[in-house]
Amino acid sequence: MELCCAVQKYAWGKAGKSSLVAQLSQGNSSAPIIDEDPYAELWMGTHPSGPSVIKSSNEPLLNHLLNNVDSLGDEEKKVFGADLPFLFKALSVAKALSIQAHPDKKHAEELFATRPDLYKDPNHKPEMVTAWLGPFEALCGFRPIGDIKFFLQEIDELAAVVGKSACEALVKAESDSDEIRALRECFSALMNTSEESIASALKQFEQRIPSLSAEKKDSLQCDLFTRIASDFPGDVGCWGVYFMNYVILQEGESMFLGPNVPHAYIFGDCLECMACSDNVVRAGLTPKFKDIDTLCSMLDYQTGPVDRFRMKWSTVDEFCQTCLPPVPDFAMARLQLPNSATVDKPYGVPVRCNASILLILQGQATSAETKDDLTFGQVLFLKAGQQLTVQVKGEQDFIVYQAFANV
Ligand SMILES: [Zn+2]
Repeated sequence: MELCCAVQKYAWGKAGKSSLVAQLSQGNSSAPIIDEDPYAELWMGTHPSGPSVIKSSNEPLLNHLLNNVDSLGDEEKKVFGADLPFLFKALSVAKALSIQAHPDKKHAEELFATRPDLYKDPNHKPEMVTAWLGPFEALCGFRPIGDIKFFLQEIDELAAVVGKSACEALVKAESDSDEIRALRECFSALMNTSEESIASALKQFEQRIPSLSAEKKDSLQCDLFTRIASDFPGDVGCWGVYFMNYVILQEGESMFLGPNVPHAYIFGDCLECMACSDNVVRAGLTPKFKDIDTLCSMLDYQTGPVDRFRMKWSTVDEFCQTCLPPVPDFAMARLQLPNSATVDKPYGVPVRCNASILLILQGQATSAETKDDLTFGQVLFLKAGQQLTVQVKGEQDFIVYQAFANV
């Protein structure tokens, strides 16, 4: 079944036709692209804030699932009930998204019970991001502690807003637990500093940057800092550059972000799969509400290089790889079939025991099971156990990403 999917226009999205999200939307909806609109996210799934509908009948996918529960796999139904447990997205990022973290399941239930105005559902939101097309930039997890100490020692303006006692505690900390406690104190102090002090410290540092040597600018990641500071003048999140790892994912590389890991996407296009939730606790790079107490108390203050978030893809067969994160809510597969000059016979997509959503990202193919050709931007729903056989057409390789429950 082909799906029509919701486009979300947020201020940080890429504009008009330059946005992958806008381009993809042309494959599954008839809405024209508006040049100046920011096309931020394409949502594939049943989330009430952007539900997908079945193209042939216009019926919401969730309705269809409720009326056809056997579309879902047995284990999937047992664990998650009569709905898809995941939300699959494509993102086109022109400007940093807010620094954020997502609560674990138990904490999400508490937040939803006490602050339903801020936290709209009781679910956790682990997420996996995969770069698509060019490189994808992000901030993710706390840096190695040595890096953070170095920046606090080198950037007086940052040390001033963090405060002398918190900085000293971090520099002196020797054991892992002391370091984590001191880092928590530093980060909480930063987040609780008044907006005026943050803005004036940012301004002072920005004014000082041109006088630094090229080597110093490099070691203090001034290019990155300046880029973010010019998009978010006066925002406390600009200092996040000095606490969080900066990572560039190349096309096809993935990261998994579990509960309470601070992160911010900065630039590029990606595919994202997550538990079906919209619970976000924000820390900066946003004009939206920052729930600072909740954030500072829940964050994962573990430090170290970004490698701990990277995911490996495993080979299933010649054309298929899968990536299985450590949560039951979702997993991903990707199909990369060479062009028709290289492979001229049909290929059976590995059959999944759970329902899945497929997004066609490149190329064209015919299929024995669908009437129409499969092309760029189409989104397909496959029920549990359903077969799909494809034969590549044309000169481009045929590339598809598939999301499904990891049970
Ligand atoms: Zn997130």
